[in-house]
Formats: sequence, structure tokens, C-alpha cells
Amino acid sequence: MAFDFDLFVIGGGSGGVRCARIAATHGARVAVAESRHWGGTCVNLGCVPKKMMVQASEYGEHALDGRGFGWSSEPGTHDWARLIAAKDHEIGRLNAIYVRLLGNAGVTLFEGRARFEDAHTLVLEPGPLDPEFEPRRITARRIVIATGSTPVVQPHIEGYEFGINSDQAFHLPERPERVTIVGGGYIGVEFAGIFAGLGSEVQMIFRQKLPLRGFDEDLRHALAEAIEARGITAHPNSLLHGIRRLDGDQHGALQVRLTDGREWATDCVFFAVGRMPNVAGLGLDATGVRTTAEGRILVDAGSETHEPGIFAIGDVTNRVNLTPVAIAEGHILADRLFGGVTREWSFDTIPKAVFFSPPLASVGLTEHEAAEQGPADIYLARFTPMRHTLSGRKRHSVMKLVVDQASSRVVGVHMLGEDAPEMMQGMAIAVSAGLTKADFDRTIGIHPTSAEEFVTMRARTRMAAVAE
Ligand code: NDP
Repeated sequence: MAFDFDLFVIGGGSGGVRCARIAATHGARVAVAESRHWGGTCVNLGCVPKKMMVQASEYGEHALDGRGFGWSSEPGTHDWARLIAAKDHEIGRLNAIYVRLLGNAGVTLFEGRARFEDAHTLVLEPGPLDPEFEPRRITARRIVIATGSTPVVQPHIEGYEFGINSDQAFHLPERPERVTIVGGGYIGVEFAGIFAGLGSEVQMIFRQKLPLRGFDEDLRHALAEAIEARGITAHPNSLLHGIRRLDGDQHGALQVRLTDGREWATDCVFFAVGRMPNVAGLGLDATGVRTTAEGRILVDAGSETHEPGIFAIGDVTNRVNLTPVAIAEGHILADRLFGGVTREWSFDTIPKAVFFSPPLASVGLTEHEAAEQGPADIYLARFTPMRHTLSGRKRHSVMKLVVDQASSRVVGVHMLGEDAPEMMQGMAIAVSAGLTKADFDRTIGIHPTSAEEFVTMRARTRMAAVAE
């Protein structure tokens, strides 16, 4: 059978665009459908605008910190609308770059929504990106689902409809004075920092004792301290019961109530309780693609679904939901299908960063994970970074190495402190390469930096402990 395309990618986000572009450069006839925004969540409603907003939120503190260095600087007032407009302008530029990259690679672009009619046939219909899009039917030999994820909704919470999620947070008409964040994961922590830095009063509700479940315990403790130091009120071990509108409040204030009865007034409730795969409306029933109850598309190690010729990459498979992972999955797949190339990526040592202020970053095993695998040594440093000896700001850095005793390999590196994500990229190379503590020790430091601490930690702090 002759197909219109060798490869059709559903979703023009980070993973889909990379897959399409690489397949096209290998000579395949490729098309991509995107219904909402080129660049997907990362560029439009995720990593990129989030980081701009984190940066925006840090200028007030920089101005205050400058006083310790002799400046008579004041934070002044922040113009939310100007920030949102500047961010949207830059995102518009990035959207255009994505379109150009695909076009230059010879990929055909469709600004519509794709739905399966059968395993090789898609119906394309209008979506928000182009409501005038002319519907059509297209066939492809292979199809990649790269539709990403969307914020989880919690309709069982009374008054849920009064809340927002990260999609809306990027386009609020004005900055709420009082924000209540539900969830202590990546998005909850990052937006708590953004709003606090811009001047909002922030409360965080999360159900664990500490934020960021899954990260190293020392980092989680250090983050809890940093959250407090930024004036954010954390409500650990807590669950939201409901939200109601405060009667007669012309500013639209809300009242939140926890399951233990505690209550307070707020202007915005922000749900950051995870993301779920975007599979609604894809017509997967018309194919042999199988999903879990939560909608995660099941794939094998080669990203192939239960329907031969249909693949899935990125958040829609809910493996590791990070942009660079989706990009790697898309690149590997395109190389394998159309280039005959087997590309290797180190999925066991994926570095992670959370952009709070100060940020935190990690690669490899946490202390508890290492201890479960065998005896391990912990090297830990905690100090006030040089900048804050003069600024007077209460801010500490925590740096940690986890070393497997049997092999002497550094199996985990963790840090909370300024520039942690920038440092961790290099540390990830060391951990992926399997370097030992002796390799770290013989590396000369760069002085004076915080990073040199990673190569000057000589005395073991303790043996690694398993989780309680
Ligand atoms: P996360 O999974 O990181 O965190 C979700 C939070 O919500 C956790 O605190 C979780 O608690 C809590 N939660 C989940 N379900 C409930 C519930 N029913 N009731 C109460 N609390 C609940 O999700 P996010 O939404 O923060 O982010 C989504 C994903 O996006 C991340 O996992 C990450 O993959 C990606 N991301 C990455 C970023 C980065 O790389 N810097 C930035 C932003 C997002 P518990 O821990 O108890 O389950």
C-alpha cells in the first residue's frame, strides 16, 4: 500500500519535533500535526516561561542583597503585565524557530488535531491553533504519538473550579497578592518561589512531611528550610478539603479549608498535583494501542506500542517526564527507524533540577537508594555561599556526594544552592562515565567557587543510611 508519508508525528512538542526533524534528515517523508502551539508544553506552558518567571522573581532579592555590597538599591515595584508580555514575545519568537526548523528539514506541517481512523489512517481536524483548518484524511506507514501531558484535575475537591493550574498561571491578568499552592512537587515548589519573589504571600499545602518526594532527604530538608527562609508558609502532612468563595468579597477572595479544619483566605488556589498523559480524542480505540487506567500509553524498550508501526514518546508514556528525555526518545527512534543508527543515551543517570531560589539539582542515586544497593559513603558540605556572607541573606548551600564503597564510584551527586543546575550538568557527565571518588579528588578546583567543594570533600561524613 502506498502511504502519504513514511512517518507522521502527532504533537509538535520537544519530543515530536526532534523525532520528525531527524527522520526527515535521514530522507524519510515526514509530517507533524500540532493543534495548539509549536514547541509544546516546554516552550509555551512549561520550562521556558517558568525559567523566565523564576529569573524575574529574583531581581527584587538581588536589589536588596546589593546593599551589603555598598549599593543603595531598592527592589521597587514589579509590573506583572510587562513580564507576561515580554515572555509571550519571546515565546512567539521560539514558536517561529520551531516551525522554521521543521520546514528547513523538509517536514510537512499541519496545524490541526489528529485522530486515528485505523492504525495507518489519521483524520485531521481544526484545533485552537487554526480554527479554519480544512479537515483531511492522511495515511502514514509509521505514526508517533507525542502528545505530551496536561495538568491533573481533582474534581472531587469541593470548589475545585475556583482553582487554577500551571496552564493558567502563565497568563493571569495580574499577580495575586495571596496564593495557595496545592502540591509539593516540581511545579508547586517552582511557582511558590516565583510568586514569593514577586511579592505575593504564599502558602503551600503538601501531603508529605517534606516537599519533593523522590529527591535526596538532605536536599528535601534543605529545601524546606529555604522555603521558610523565603517567607513561604508550608503546610506539610496536609490535605486540601475544599475551596469556597468568600461572600461579598468584591476582589473574588477565596477561603481554603484543610481536612484538619484549618482555614485561611487567599486570592488564588493553584493546583500542582501532577500531570496526566494527553490521550483524549486521539481515537486510540481504532487501533491496538494499549493504555493504563490513567491513560499512559504502554510501549516497549523501542517506544513501540502494542500496535506494530505505532510508537509513543515523551510524557504521553509517563516514563521520565522531562523535556530532554522526550527529545532523546524521539531522536533515538528516528535514528533507528530511518537512519539505521543505534544511538545510546544514559537513561540511568538523568540529571534533574528544580528552579526554586536557591535551585536544587541531582544526578544518580539518593543516599537511601545507594544504601539499598550496598554499603555507601556520604560526603556532605553545608555552608553560607560567599555572596551571602556580605548580603546578610539567610541562605545556605548543601552539597553531597554518594559513593559506592565496593567500586569507589560516585553514584549520586546532589546540591541545593546557587547555580546547582549549571554545575549538575558537568557532574552528570562524571556520574554517567562511572568516575570514582579518587577521580574527583585528583581534579583541581576552581577557586573561589562553590563548585570546588565537589572536588575537595576529603573526610567522609557518614555511611549511607537506608530509609526509616
Ligand atoms: P509532581 O509529580 O512533581 O508533584 C505532584 C505533587 O502533588 C506532589 O507533591 C504529590 O504528592 C502531590 N499530589 C499528587 N496527587 C495528590 C493528591 N491526590 N492529593 C494531594 N496531593 C497530591 O507533579 P507536578 O505537577 O509538580 O509536575 C509534573 C511533572 O512535570 C513533574 O513530575 C516533572 O516530571 C515535570 N516538571 C519538571 C520540571 C523541571 O524539570 N524543573 C518543572 C515542572 C514540571 P506526593 O509526593 O505525596 O505524591
